[in-house]
Amino acid sequence: MTFEEFDYSRAGILLYRWFLNNARKLPWRSDPAPYHIWISEIMLQQTRVEAVKPYYARFLAALPTSAALAACPEETYLKLWEGLGYYSRVRNLHKAAQQIDAQYGGALPSDFDELLKLPGIGRYTAGAIASIAYGKYEPAVDGNVLRILARLTGDDADIQLQQTKDRAERVLRAYYRTLKEAAEGPSAESAMPASRQEAEAANLEQMPGDQAASAQSKETQVVEAESSADTVTESIEPAGRLAAEAVCSMRAVSAGIELASANTAGITNLEQPIAQAATSAADTPVLSAEALKPPQRSSAAVLQQQAEALSRGEEPAFLHPGLLNQAMMDLGATVCVPNGEPLCHRCPWEGLCTARREGLTGILPVRSKKAARKIEERTVLILSDGKRAAIRKRPARGLLADLWELPNYLQLLTREEVVSYVQAMGFSPIRIAELPPAKHIFSHVEWHMTGWQVLIEEEAFASEEQLDLRKKEKLQFCSLAEIQSDYAIPSAFSAYLPYLR
Ligand code: SF4
Repeated sequence: MTFEEFDYSRAGILLYRWFLNNARKLPWRSDPAPYHIWISEIMLQQTRVEAVKPYYARFLAALPTSAALAACPEETYLKLWEGLGYYSRVRNLHKAAQQIDAQYGGALPSDFDELLKLPGIGRYTAGAIASIAYGKYEPAVDGNVLRILARLTGDDADIQLQQTKDRAERVLRAYYRTLKEAAEGPSAESAMPASRQEAEAANLEQMPGDQAASAQSKETQVVEAESSADTVTESIEPAGRLAAEAVCSMRAVSAGIELASANTAGITNLEQPIAQAATSAADTPVLSAEALKPPQRSSAAVLQQQAEALSRGEEPAFLHPGLLNQAMMDLGATVCVPNGEPLCHRCPWEGLCTARREGLTGILPVRSKKAARKIEERTVLILSDGKRAAIRKRPARGLLADLWELPNYLQLLTREEVVSYVQAMGFSPIRIAELPPAKHIFSHVEWHMTGWQVLIEEEAFASEEQLDLRKKEKLQFCSLAEIQSDYAIPSAFSAYLPYLR
C-alpha cells in the first residue's frame, strides 16, 4: 500500500488514545506558548531531547520572550547555544525574532504560510508551531513521521526524497481537514484547498488555454509536484462525508467496532460501519459540550482534560492537531524507533501496521544511501602561557561561521612541526605534550584531530615578521574565566577544552 491508499481514520484515533496515556513529559509541553514551541523545535533539530533540556531551560531563563531574543547581543546568544552545534539555528532564531518584532508586533504568527517567511522555519517547524501552540490543523512531517508512516502503510518510496515528504504531508493535511470538520463542522474554509500550492494547482485547471499555459510554464515545478495530489484530494472529498466518518470512527473505536479499510481508490464504503458506530456509540460517554469546541485552547490543557476523561472511560470528542503531531513524534521516538528493532508489542498500530504484518520492519522505511562524509585530519593547539590561552574567530562564512575556536590546522603536524610553527610566530615553547586524538562528526564532514598542549614563555621578543604571522593567525589571548564567560567555542573542540586549565 502507499501513503495515499491507506485509511488513517482508525490509526489516528488509536494513536491519539495511546498518546493521552503515554505522552512524554517535556519542559516545553507544560506551557506550549508559541515562543516555547519555536525555541524547543529549533533546538531539537539534529539534537536529542535529553541534550536539549538543559539548554532550553537556560535559554528561556535568559531570554524569556521573542522581544528579549531580538534585543540580545550576538556573543550572548551564541554563548547560550554553546555546545548545541549547528549555530546557524540560533543566528536564524535571532533574525526571526527581530522580524517578529518589526512585522508581527512581537508575537509569532499563527498562520502556516506566515511562519514559513521567518528565517530558519521550514515546513516541519511551521506545522509544529501552528498545531501545538495555536491548534491549527497543520501536519508536521519530519524523518520520524516518515518512518512510522512508511511502516504503517507499507509505502516503499525513498524517504530521503523531497517528493516522498511532500506526498506524506499532502495526505496528512487531507486527513487533518477531516478532523477539523469533525471538530468544527464543515466550513467554507475547509471546503477550499488547504495549501497555497493546491490553490494554485486548482486555479490552473480553471484558466483558459493561453493563460493557463503561461502560468504553467512559470509554475511547472509546483504543478508537477501536485499532479499526484490531485488524485488524493479527489479521492478524499467530499469532506463532509469524511467529517462524519471521523466523528463516527472515534466513537466506533471506543465501542470496539472495526471499520472497513480503504479500497485502492482511497474511498471507503462506510455506510454500514458508520450506522453501526453511531448506534453503538449512542451509549458511549464523550466529553462535555465545552470540550466539543474547536481546539483553540492550549494543547497542554486539552491533553490533561482528555487524558482525565479517557481514564473515566470517556472518549476524546475531537483530535487536537498539536497533540496528534506530538503523538507521532513520541511514537517515532519511543516505540517505532529509528535504530534497532521497533517495539511493536507496545505500539497502538500493532494490529494495523503493514510492516509488522508482512515482516518488513527491517526493510521499511526505504532510505537511499547518503554520500560518505569527508574526513579531515586536523591539529589542534592549546597554546598557553599559563595564565592565558590563544583562541581565534572563525571566518564569517562556512562551517561554524564567526564562532571562536582553538587554533587548528588542516593537517596532522608532528611535534617538530608544531614547535617550529609556534616559534615562527615569535613564541618560546617551554614544554610541549601530545594530547589524545579526538573525533567530531558534522553532517557532511568528520574532523579527526590530534592535539598538542604548548606552554610558552609569558613575554618574548618578536620580530616584525613574527608579529605579522600572529596577526595573520588572528590569535587572541584570553584567561580561562574570559573564555568561559564571553566566548562561544563549538563542541567540536570539547575534547581539548579541559586542557586550557
Ligand atoms: S507496529 Fe511496529 S513497525 Fe508498525 S508502526 Fe508500530 S512499532 Fe512501527
